[in-house]
Amino acid sequence: MINIAIDGHVGSGKSTLARGLAKKLGFNVFDTGAIYRGLACEFKEKGYKSIDENTISDFISSVEVKIFFEGDVQHVVVNGHDHTPNLRREEISMLSAQISPFPVLRDKVKDLQRHFAKEHNCIMEGRDIGTVVLPNADLKFFITASEEVRAQRRFDQVKDKPNSPSYQEILNDLRERDYKDEHRTIAPLKPAKDAIILDTSNMTLDDTINKCIEIINNKLN
Ligand code: C5P
Repeated sequence: MINIAIDGHVGSGKSTLARGLAKKLGFNVFDTGAIYRGLACEFKEKGYKSIDENTISDFISSVEVKIFFEGDVQHVVVNGHDHTPNLRREEISMLSAQISPFPVLRDKVKDLQRHFAKEHNCIMEGRDIGTVVLPNADLKFFITASEEVRAQRRFDQVKDKPNSPSYQEILNDLRERDYKDEHRTIAPLKPAKDAIILDTSNMTLDDTINKCIEIINNKLN
């Protein structure tokens, strides 16, 4: 199987890039952040009052996660609950970053990710795919852009929706989540040694897709 890893900062456009590349290559996309988000939805629903090693261990020991695809949509089902409609809620973004540093939870997600990669030609996107989950991926990209560009892109996507956050709230949220992801002891966000780093601050989505396709063709042909 061919596995391509895409890691990067919050709002760097990893998911959109992964989907664009997968379409051109005929690969599956695996959005690993969606798993952490699905677990965060379930954690919230279960009503835990604190986030610490004990509560996370208790939670994860009773959790069964399933993934299925409906067209382009990746569904995340935890203990029979399909959390897909709630994955992108703001509170879930923050909660997923709070529960993701715990090793016992990451191990569970890692097994699921590796199992998928073994059976599919895929583009897997997240934070630790090139460094921890698929260290032998055929190709690794690390995508970033300036904080301001990333916040502006996200603001443009949501500004016409009801109760949308302000530009400043989005900027604060992405700074806080990046900080958490980069500073955790287990699987921190960082480029793998053999990753190709792309700063897309001054690139359109099409530029980025074309650049990646060129690199993929050179490397895999
Ligand atoms: O990518 P996305 O923003 O959907 O991820 C939600 C959260 O899940 C991130 O802020 C991060 O804390 C966590 N995550 C992770 N490792 C991954 C993917 C996501 O820790 N591979």
